[in-house]
Amino acid sequence: MRASARVSSLERLVLDLVRAPEQLDAVLDALPASMSLSLGLIDGRNIWRADLDAAHAVLRRAVTALGAERVMVGPSCSLLHVPVDLDAEQRLDTDLKRWLAFAAQKLDELRALADAAGSATPSGAQFEDTRIALAGRRSSPRTYNPAVRGRTGAVTEAMRRRSSPFPVRAPKQRARFGLPSFPTTTIGSFPQTTDVRGARAAWRAGRMSEEDYDTFLKAEMRKCIERQEKIGLDVLVHGEFERNDMVEYFGEQLDGFAFTENGWVQSYGSRCVKPPVLFGDVARQRAITVAWSTSAQALTERPMKGMLTGPVTILQWSFVRDDQPRSETCAQLALALRDEVADLEAAGISMIQVDEPAIREGLPLRRRDWNAYLRWAVDAFRLATSSVRDETQIHTHMCYSEFGDILDAIAEMDADVLSIETSRSRMELLGDFARFQYPNAIGPGVYDIHSPRVPTQGEMVDLLTRAAQVLPMDQLWVNPDCGLKTRGWPEVEAALTHMVEAAKVVRAKLGHARQPPA
Ligand code: GLN
Ligand code: ZN
Repeated sequence: MRASARVSSLERLVLDLVRAPEQLDAVLDALPASMSLSLGLIDGRNIWRADLDAAHAVLRRAVTALGAERVMVGPSCSLLHVPVDLDAEQRLDTDLKRWLAFAAQKLDELRALADAAGSATPSGAQFEDTRIALAGRRSSPRTYNPAVRGRTGAVTEAMRRRSSPFPVRAPKQRARFGLPSFPTTTIGSFPQTTDVRGARAAWRAGRMSEEDYDTFLKAEMRKCIERQEKIGLDVLVHGEFERNDMVEYFGEQLDGFAFTENGWVQSYGSRCVKPPVLFGDVARQRAITVAWSTSAQALTERPMKGMLTGPVTILQWSFVRDDQPRSETCAQLALALRDEVADLEAAGISMIQVDEPAIREGLPLRRRDWNAYLRWAVDAFRLATSSVRDETQIHTHMCYSEFGDILDAIAEMDADVLSIETSRSRMELLGDFARFQYPNAIGPGVYDIHSPRVPTQGEMVDLLTRAAQVLPMDQLWVNPDCGLKTRGWPEVEAALTHMVEAAKVVRAKLGHARQPPA
């Protein structure tokens, strides 16, 4: 948007001053007279209302240095990453709504800035309104919970460390579970059929009672557990039928989150997501998953994995508050999950999986910033998972591959078992793990869940044999690449049956019928 009606230059430089405000001075000094400058002053990646006075001060510096003709204002990047229009939200409370700006509101902000480019002291409704809204946000008790602050301030290094290292934990876990070598399991979700999605929609719309919905979900869970037993899996899951989405489900039960009705943004291709808005201090008022996990465990003798989404993934897949460092918000999430992990363990759940598929995509653009990010991201995972006894087994799962350059961080997460996506690359990724001598157990995915094709037993035997060539056998688990929620039951049952058969073949072939007792 033009700060002046007369833009005469032929060339223009656009700066992202949200991510790199420090670039402005250097550019103002060096910009050739033939060029104009576009100031990316409105955050195109987040949904918060801009501090118009601060943006205006930057704009004025540029206008003073270059003259209004050479200055434009715009968003820091395309508005593709934000929802379209806040006015379409009927259910967000008015307080919170005043703190937000979606794409349409960001255009209004730009208009106000451009119109005020010529004035040293901006006034007008847009500026006034913003000042009141931002002051309200800063002082709101909804963004600041003293109990939460007290806890994050009191986190110690010891809280992020398991009581014993993996070589001490592993034999204790082996003795507790008595699993065969190459134990078989899945990543967590089972098919979210039309029935499951239909029931959820009916319940949300008030057409199905809470009680009926609960009965329906429990019946789905029971069928899912029976099927897993019949297939012969060693470690079971409850199926995640009660979850709409792995982040929204947790956000809905934590303080500090809000949800839009229409805040869709593109994920990739034609797939869209509706990220929750993480606006305030995060606290857990009550257990989230314990009832599901314990009622699932009651239906089987085999170990039932508790299933949580990790702190980094919840952070990464939400619109996150911009009034404090992400590391601080992540630590709050980690503490809430730590309580959930402790409750699961106390309720008798012996294996707990904390999914972190988004850990790699959180990496900053510049390599020199990687370490700082990885430090707090790994710390958050450890804070969430380290309170458990040696005998309690922590699993984690990550989907998107290419871990080669962050393997030390992944090892530092110190999960007992890590399941990863490897089948599409035909186990290529495992070379990195072998070279690095990844110390804990790994379940390299042997079944590509992104396609409806049912892999044969032979293919999976082949993949497992390759894995066993590069990694110690007693370190290996057998599982699909990712959750099965997008698949149909017939193909899932067939593929998992082949997978369990493949594990048996490999056990026999490699003469490793049972893991040695501790
Ligand atoms: N537990 C989740 C599932 O099985 C993990 C999903 C993911 O990795 N994105 O669906
Ligand atoms: Zn996955």
